[in-house]
Amino acid sequence: MKTLQGIAASPGIAIGPAFRFQKTDLRFECYAVQDPSAEWARFQTALETASAQLADVCAQAEAESGADDAAIFQAHALMLDDPELLDAVRTAIEEQCVNAESALNDAAGTYIQLLESLDDEYLSARAADVRDVADRVLRILLGVAESPTANLTTPSVILARDLTPSDTVLLDKSLVLGFCTAEGGPTAHTAILARGLGLPAIVGIGPDILEVEDHTTLILDGGSGTLVAEPDDKTVAMYRGRQAVATTVLAQAREQAHEPAITRDGHRVEIVANIGNVEGARAALDAGAEGVGLLRTEFLYLERDHLPDEEEQYQTYRAILYEFGDRPVILRTLDIGGDKELSYFDLPKEMNPFLGLRAIRLCLTQPNIFKPQLRAVLRAGAGRNLKVMFPMVATVAEVRAARSLLEECRAELLAEGQPIAEEMEIGIMVEIPSAALMADRLAVEVDFFSIGTNDLSQYTMAADRVNAAVAPLANGFQPAVLRLVRQVITAAHAQGKWVGLCGELAGEPLAAPILLGLGLDEFSMNPPAIPLIKQIIRALTLDQARAVAQAALELDSPDAVQALVRERVPAADLG
Ligand code: PEP
Ligand code: MG
Repeated sequence: MKTLQGIAASPGIAIGPAFRFQKTDLRFECYAVQDPSAEWARFQTALETASAQLADVCAQAEAESGADDAAIFQAHALMLDDPELLDAVRTAIEEQCVNAESALNDAAGTYIQLLESLDDEYLSARAADVRDVADRVLRILLGVAESPTANLTTPSVILARDLTPSDTVLLDKSLVLGFCTAEGGPTAHTAILARGLGLPAIVGIGPDILEVEDHTTLILDGGSGTLVAEPDDKTVAMYRGRQAVATTVLAQAREQAHEPAITRDGHRVEIVANIGNVEGARAALDAGAEGVGLLRTEFLYLERDHLPDEEEQYQTYRAILYEFGDRPVILRTLDIGGDKELSYFDLPKEMNPFLGLRAIRLCLTQPNIFKPQLRAVLRAGAGRNLKVMFPMVATVAEVRAARSLLEECRAELLAEGQPIAEEMEIGIMVEIPSAALMADRLAVEVDFFSIGTNDLSQYTMAADRVNAAVAPLANGFQPAVLRLVRQVITAAHAQGKWVGLCGELAGEPLAAPILLGLGLDEFSMNPPAIPLIKQIIRALTLDQARAVAQAALELDSPDAVQALVRERVPAADLG
């Protein structure tokens, strides 16, 4: 029996034989063409074939997993028309007499490198889409058929280095129990498609997976990201039991995704989404989000080469608010520094950027950056349910300084006669231990808190959140972190203020009973987690959750905390 740990990408348990998905290498030579116009025409014919293939794949995806997943292939079809990409190919063919395969491969390679170098998980994941489209056209140019799954004849767990969206759609779903990939992250399209298809999936498990032989018995636990190879009978029986519960819970969860999360004894909590752009807004609404608990505004600053001006920000915020109608949207002001750098803005070089001039600290020293955002926020909030929060607050003085800049912007806009939000709730992220410890004082200054357990864990445990070697320490299930969460909620409630939580912990099934029991008012998470978290809350009474929370906070390790919830709340035991 061997256990491997990857990234949980789509919940559910699959038990069955391994099938290794290996693609034919697309080999080709780079050579000089005699007739560049004929070569360009050959390339264009290949594009037309690719476009027709994509229309078929798109129809198949729509039939199997819905319009959202089909949209991935519509986006692929658009890439075939991308003027910059086509221009690069045409220049290589017509001016340098390069063959179409090489010209396309080089142009796509440059694009892919650019996307991968961006410090944005979502955009980096789009590199896989460009590769997928380019490979499709290359296969057509080379006359290579696309069917690495001809030998897949029994329902199996698919193992692959990486799966492109096209690979995923081509698989015969009646023969796929789940996916596990060596590479990729939770926002890669394979993960998104797997969730859309309701298939368990693990990504980024590492190259060892490629050593597993075909037909080896596997247990894939997509909720926890664990893969067990050659399990013993006892382990199989244990997972079969969990599989039965998980299947029922997940099916119900998906059916009731748009219903509110109300405990069995009538206590309602708000379930909202973490988003970073307009597309995220739509995904959130589809998943059953009741609003947005964290709009990360960094995307507006990271995906470009200059600072966005006030008007541009205003338009983007309005577009997102429009999607949500009168539902609440919490916009977080700029959180750069740390691991998020702006290529066009010279941030000071620091020995320890996570402990340096990041987020609100930076904004308070750069009113030329901060004020246009605050003005855009105030304008965008006119007639909408917009709230604003400041990231990385460590002291009361910072909140007062930020609020005073906001007031300054309000006065300016009023004097200019601009329509603005008349009343807007103002909150802070509690993600630094000092803020958690001073929560009683900070609660006086604001309307709400949103606890950022990603940073709160790293600062409480002194464990870098991007360093895999200390990942078990920087973990929201650490009792030390949970105790701070309790302290923050208690302090805020004592002043009549509400508390949300927007770190990854809010979307963890095993954390839901604890957070509910601690009195959390709002859970904000990545959209795919929403249906299940709602369902877990519906299975509990508030008293049950309180008892779980109280017991959990007396324990002394994250493992013990998770084991306790598994034992007490079977509905949360999906990984
Ligand atoms: C957090 O720190 O928990 C959080 C939600 O913010 P970010 O992950 O963007 O730092
Ligand atoms: Mg944070």
